[in-house]
Amino acid sequence: MSDSDRPVWGQQPIPTAQPKPRRSRQAVTSWGSHHVTVGGDAPVRVQSMTNTDTVDVIGTAIQVKELALAGSEMVRITVNTPEAAAAVPHIREQLDRMGISVPLIGDFHYNGHRLLTEYPACAEALSKYRINPGNVGKGDKHDRQFGQMIDAAIRWNKPVRIGVNWGSLDQELLASLMDENSQRAQPWDARQVMYEALISSAITSARRAEEMGLPGHQIILSCKVSGVQDLIAVYRELGRRTDYALHLGLTEAGMGTKGTVASATALSILLQEGIGDTIRVSLTPQPGEARTQEVVIASEILQALGLRVFVPSVTACPGCGRTTSTTFQELAKQIDDFLRAQMPVWRSRYPGVEKLKVAVMGCIVNGPGESKHADIGISLPGTGEAPAAPVFIDGEKALTLRGDNIAAEFHQIVENYIEKRFGATASAPQSEPI
Ligand code: SF4
Repeated sequence: MSDSDRPVWGQQPIPTAQPKPRRSRQAVTSWGSHHVTVGGDAPVRVQSMTNTDTVDVIGTAIQVKELALAGSEMVRITVNTPEAAAAVPHIREQLDRMGISVPLIGDFHYNGHRLLTEYPACAEALSKYRINPGNVGKGDKHDRQFGQMIDAAIRWNKPVRIGVNWGSLDQELLASLMDENSQRAQPWDARQVMYEALISSAITSARRAEEMGLPGHQIILSCKVSGVQDLIAVYRELGRRTDYALHLGLTEAGMGTKGTVASATALSILLQEGIGDTIRVSLTPQPGEARTQEVVIASEILQALGLRVFVPSVTACPGCGRTTSTTFQELAKQIDDFLRAQMPVWRSRYPGVEKLKVAVMGCIVNGPGESKHADIGISLPGTGEAPAAPVFIDGEKALTLRGDNIAAEFHQIVENYIEKRFGATASAPQSEPI
């Protein structure tokens, strides 16, 4: 039988694509009576980092609040000086006063051993410590200072992230691996030696922390690099060698589209393989851009992969020559902005609202079809079409909007639908465990 004679349909159902399950141990970040789990059966967590001066208690607390309201489930702050360490408990108090339940992670380099020892209120107020093994001192100081930070974690019952970064890799370890490599009959590529140094530094430090008494489940590892293929290679191996929870992110991802695409590409491939328990998108904000953009992107990556559901989704067509009006673009943006802005309040008022699907389409080619697949959809008139916009609710055509006020009327229809379906008067709760 030639290819052209074969039936085009297959004999077996096409397997669905879905992320592989993860197999990590679970760390618990806690403060007061609050807990946020990372790894194990916890959902992949979104985290972010402030760029305020930590000494500025109010400014930092406000930015932490913004990041948390945007969906960041953990927020890291720089703790680099005695003044910053002294400010940490006040930031925690401020957040508690504002009702912001998000764990604070302290980011330490060079002097973390001193700050965590000399500022116990800081050590207690933080929910997790980030330790960079490449920045805890050299020679015998390295082990002693690393040990002091682990002692603080044990004393205050905090998890740690052992966060290796190729920009601050332990140079002694790298030199010794380079030496060893030069003795090989067939030396490895320098890049492969670097991969090994990153992974060895993280795992060796984690084992040392466990030997000191820190429970293995309270250790999270990261090995950050700035190249997409490098990150994939390193994390595949890290995921193969250990079951510590993994913090995943492309370091120094860059600005705007480049940083977004690079992060989404690298993180998606690894998350699909079941690698990564918490993610951060290290985006350089463009001038005037909100810091919260990195949280939006991280959430969108998880939502696009079907790993989490954070906000209602708006399906919009790209537009083409069949529609010369920008009405549908404006409407799609308005609806998207509106749904996202309301989410901090709606999460508690309308349980399950994050699963809502809205479609805003530009003409009749795909408009009615796509609208029927959404919970609520509108198909706007394309060029030359009758000036009417059919609205579909739960797969059925419900009404047709006409005139100059289509956007405002559709907006109201969406609000009414949300109240009816997800509000207190809704017949049954719509939320399901993620
Ligand atoms: S739905 Fe219509 S306007 Fe939108 S991309 Fe398709 S053909 Fe173009």
